[in-house]
Amino acid sequence: MVKRDFSTLRRALVEALVEEGVIRSKIVKEAMLKVPREEFVPSHLRDYAYEDTPLPIGYGQTISAPHMVALMCEEAQLAPGMRVLEVGTGSGYHAAVIAEIVGPKGAVYTIERLAELAAFARKNLARTGYLDKITLIIGDGSMGYPPAAPYDRIIVTAAAPQVPPPLINQLATEGIIVIPIGDRFNQTLYVVRKKSDGSIEYRTVTPCLFVPLIGKHGWKD
Ligand code: SAM
Repeated sequence: MVKRDFSTLRRALVEALVEEGVIRSKIVKEAMLKVPREEFVPSHLRDYAYEDTPLPIGYGQTISAPHMVALMCEEAQLAPGMRVLEVGTGSGYHAAVIAEIVGPKGAVYTIERLAELAAFARKNLARTGYLDKITLIIGDGSMGYPPAAPYDRIIVTAAAPQVPPPLINQLATEGIIVIPIGDRFNQTLYVVRKKSDGSIEYRTVTPCLFVPLIGKHGWKD
């Protein structure tokens, strides 16, 4: 069997995302070049790690497509030193990309409702050296994570019926939330900004399809 050269495949995918205009910044490009997506998918799917598609990670959940991870990072305007909350850890891949971008002066909190997936992510993050850069919490992320608030950025990787009010409360002034909103089959990616006067501005980016956010301020199980 031919051993796959994952770094060549990774570079080709990232170059394609740059070409398509999804990756627009050097910092997102470098993070996507660095984090090995093949380490965050189930072992039998490693050969598909650099297809630009979501992949199943068990328990009915998915690791998001690379273009969606890159797009959400770009729309969040992540920068070094920021405090970021990710809702929906899944495989841990997107959290690792965020950790690369915010760097050692930043902080990444990621929350997952399914303990089994949190354990999968913990293993993946440990193997790739990201675990000590990320705080992984098991819980209902539709409630946010008050102990570490406020956050400069909140990235929600599961679709909600509305922006959960606790996330707006836990967002810093001038902070941004990137979140898919809609029903289970029709969603739109939103960028939500808390302005300096406290008002909230909403902007739509693209149609999208995520697994549902299940929780107090999400969908019922
Ligand atoms: N960001 C992930 C990655 O890089 O692999 C992909 C996440 S997957 C599309 C969405 C995740 O959100 C699933 O793992 C699901 O269990 C989780 N989820 C759904 N509702 C949640 C909630 N209320 N709080 C935390 N996690 C939730």
